[in-house]
Amino acid sequence: MLKDGMKTPCYVIDSSALRRNLSVLAGVMQRTGAHILLAQKAFSCYAFYPMIGEYLSGATASGLFEARLCHEEMPGRENHVFNPAFRPEDIDEIVGICDHIVFNSVRQLMLYGRKAKDAGCAVGLRINPEKSTQEGHEIYDPCAPGSRMGVTLSEFEKGLDAFPEMLELLDGLHFHTLCEQDSDALEVTLDVVVEKFGAYLRGMKWINFGGGHHITRDGYDIARLERCIMRMRDDFGLEVYLEPGEAIALNAGYLHTTVLEIQERDWGNIAILDTSAACHMPDVLEMPYRPPLAGSGEAGEKAHTYRLGGPTCLAGDVIGDYSFDEPLKEGDVLTFGDMAIYSMVKNNTFNGMPLPSIWIQDGEDIALWKEFSYADFKSRV
Ligand SMILES: *Cc1c(COP(=O)(O)O)cnc(C)c1O
Repeated sequence: MLKDGMKTPCYVIDSSALRRNLSVLAGVMQRTGAHILLAQKAFSCYAFYPMIGEYLSGATASGLFEARLCHEEMPGRENHVFNPAFRPEDIDEIVGICDHIVFNSVRQLMLYGRKAKDAGCAVGLRINPEKSTQEGHEIYDPCAPGSRMGVTLSEFEKGLDAFPEMLELLDGLHFHTLCEQDSDALEVTLDVVVEKFGAYLRGMKWINFGGGHHITRDGYDIARLERCIMRMRDDFGLEVYLEPGEAIALNAGYLHTTVLEIQERDWGNIAILDTSAACHMPDVLEMPYRPPLAGSGEAGEKAHTYRLGGPTCLAGDVIGDYSFDEPLKEGDVLTFGDMAIYSMVKNNTFNGMPLPSIWIQDGEDIALWKEFSYADFKSRV
C-alpha cells in the first residue's frame, strides 16, 4: 500500500485519473467550441500544469499569486483573473500577465477597466443573477441574500446611468453561482441570466459560466451542458468560458494516513490518525462532507466502528465515523479518496501539524514531488 520511503501523511495524485477527467472536458470543448479553464483555487499542483494545458484552454486565478503561477507554469495558455476587489498596487502586474480580467463591481470596472484594455486584457464584469439553485450550504451560494459576489441587475443599471461609457469597456459577463451541481441547475440559471441581462449580452464577445459544474462526476448530464453552451453561441454569438475547479481533479487524489492510537471509550472506539481534518482536509469541517475511505463502511455497517480523529487540540477535529471488517490497530495505514481538490490548497500548520508530502503516480510509477518540514511551519507562523 505504501511505497518504500513514503511517510504518512501524504497525498498521492493519480495522473491517469486526471487525464480521464481532462479527456471528458476536452470532449465538451471539441463538440461545442467552448473554452474550459482550470480554477486554480481548487487544485494548484503545478507539476500537472503542462498536462492540463494540453487539454484545456488555460487557467483562472483568484488574484495575483494564482495568476503568476499560471503565467509561469502554463505559459502560452489563457490566463484569466477575478477578484472581489483588486489591490491598486497589484493591478499593473495583473493586467501585464493576464489576458482576461473580471471585476466584481462597477466601481472597480471604472477604476481599472481602461488600464486593463490598454494593456490588451479583455474586460468582464461578474453579475449576480439572484437565482439560488442550491440548498444547505449558504457559504457556497453567491446568490444568497447579502452576497458580496457579482453585480445585480439593479446595480448594473444604476451603474449604466452613472457611467454610460461602461458598456463600451465590457467584452463579457461572468457569473458563478453553482457548487457541485449538474447542468439542470445551469440551465435554470442561464434562463434567468438571459431574461435579466440578455439585452446587454447582445453587444458582448463572451460569457463565462463560472465553476461548480460537476462535469466529470458519474451521471452528469453533459448533453444538457452542451445545449446551454450552444444556446449562447447560436442565439447571442458569444464565446463561452467555463472554469471548473472540482471537475478537473475530481477523484484524482488520495491521502494516506497512519493510525497512531486506538482508544476504547465508554461510548465507542476512537482511532487517532496522523492526519487532521482541520489541517489537511478543512472542507470536511467547513462544507461539511464525509470523505470516502477505502475498505470502510458507514458507522455500524461493518463489524468494527471507529470515530476517526486528528492529533490536534481541536475537539471537533473529527473526520467521521467509519466501520471496518477487521479491528483497526496502531500502525495501520488508511487511505482517503478524492483528496486532490480543495485539500492541498487549503492546508495549514495549526498546532504545528506537518504538511503532508505530495507524490505523483503515473501507472506503476510513484515519485515524490514535494516534501515539507519544520522549516515550512516556522516560516509561516
Ligand atoms: C470557486 C470558483 C470556481 C471553481 O469552482 P468549482 O466548484 O471548484 O468548480 C470558478 N470560478 C469562480 C469565480 C470561483 O469562485
